Amino acid sequence: MERALDLVVVGGGLSGLASAAFAARSGLSVLVIEKAGELGGRARTTMVHNFALNLGAHAVYRGGEAERVLSALGVHIDGGVPNASGAVALTARGAQALPVGLVSMLTTGALSFAGKIEVSRLLTSLHKIDADALAGETAAGWIDKSVHTEGARGIVRALARVSTYSGALDRLSAGAAVSQMGLAMKNNVTYVHGGWQTLVSSVLEIVQKAGAQLVTGDGVSSVRRAANGVVVTLADGRSFEANAAIIAGTPRTAASIASESRYLAQAADRAEPVKVATLDVALSTLPRPGCRFALGTERPLYYSVHSAAARLAPEGGAVVHVMAYEADTAGRIEAELEGVLDTLQPGWRDRVVHRRFLPSMTAANALVSAAEGGFAGRSQVTVADMPGVFVAGDWVGPKGMLLDAALASAESAAGAAKVYIEQKRVPAPRRDVSRSESAGAFAL
Ligand SMILES: Cc1cc2nc3c(=O)[nH]c(=O)nc-3n(C[C@H](O)[C@H](O)[C@H](O)COP(=O)(O)OP(=O)(O)OC[C@H]3O[C@@H](n4cnc5c(N)ncnc54)[C@H](O)[C@@H]3O)c2cc1C
Repeated sequence: MERALDLVVVGGGLSGLASAAFAARSGLSVLVIEKAGELGGRARTTMVHNFALNLGAHAVYRGGEAERVLSALGVHIDGGVPNASGAVALTARGAQALPVGLVSMLTTGALSFAGKIEVSRLLTSLHKIDADALAGETAAGWIDKSVHTEGARGIVRALARVSTYSGALDRLSAGAAVSQMGLAMKNNVTYVHGGWQTLVSSVLEIVQKAGAQLVTGDGVSSVRRAANGVVVTLADGRSFEANAAIIAGTPRTAASIASESRYLAQAADRAEPVKVATLDVALSTLPRPGCRFALGTERPLYYSVHSAAARLAPEGGAVVHVMAYEADTAGRIEAELEGVLDTLQPGWRDRVVHRRFLPSMTAANALVSAAEGGFAGRSQVTVADMPGVFVAGDWVGPKGMLLDAALASAESAAGAAKVYIEQKRVPAPRRDVSRSESAGAFAL
């Protein structure tokens, strides 16, 4: 058994690193264990010939929890805000203007006059909708109820998908969709200069400055309760004793390594991963520089030139992410995503510096589902049946989606672990004063 620590954090993605940063900064001794050879998890960025490729399209929601938590850690998000002008709706009748602003609303051929009125009304009234009251309804049901022309439904479905990353609108909570669409439409997003790896590096620097230890290239195989806290065992057989542990991996990881917990087993059973297929492309030049953003209305498709807003490519080059809000289980989506590029950037194939297709990426570990009552149904940071064990990630806590949820839960988990550890260190004063005094038991 290796030395005793205050806290072991399992997982070195952004939620594990942020938990460790908060905990170490508050004075706890912390060890982070990451099974991969490098830190960052899904926030890693691949550098190829000076192009920075995130693992699929990554954007930070402006005004969301991630921004707030990173700022609390002293991390500034350096990036650019994409410009929606000239955005395209990929409809069954071809490419049309995506009606998100006044000009595109007036000019688009994607909507009838009645459809334009419906979409305008909905988008301008999103902030007035009581999202909590819609928590148990599905996004698909709410859209069908609120929007009556089919073209307008297609646009609102596309906006719900791009805001939440969820293709399963028939199971997604309408409350979550409304609040996330409200956030994205009001404030837009930031594409990060240099890719999300820069966020990983900034948080890692804080972790290291605060004195936390790091182990990479070795996964945790179990977290068990012990008389004095928890025992964390690695795949290579090493064990660490700690007062508490935060598990910042998937719900399945949490359930399998903390196998005493029924709470985590149930959380893993309930969690429906939100999957996407993504084609990430580095191009020497862009055939049509003005064509920066598109969404599918009938098909769950996304296209965006991230290098138009963030520094991700060398001079003249471009980084484009094309995505489907579903996994490529039938092996047909790669061709469909290439087809999107053929439509929007004809001639792109001759300018490819690098391309990568990822058929099944987990954008979020748990859909915010109507059946679970929306955000309120997500797992809590405190594992009720394993005192001293906490969880963090995009499947945990009542706040936000994706990185917003991951970082909000990381901050809460670190806070809850700190309180737990302090309570253990300083035993509560005895109530039975008369008996203790008479026995002469106090020696303060
Ligand atoms: C294609 C794609 C697009 C996305 N786009 C956006 C976006 O636009 N906006 C947004 O907010 N979010 C987005 N996300 C989500 C975002 O990437 C994550 O929410 C965020 O990176 C936080 O992740 P995490 O640290 O909770 O989990 P992860 O990054 O998955 O980290 C978990 C870590 O735990 C490690 N681990 C697992 N098991 C063990 C073990 N047994 N022992 C030790 N270590 C272990 C893993 O190796 C991993 O490094 C996207 C995700 C994907 C895949």
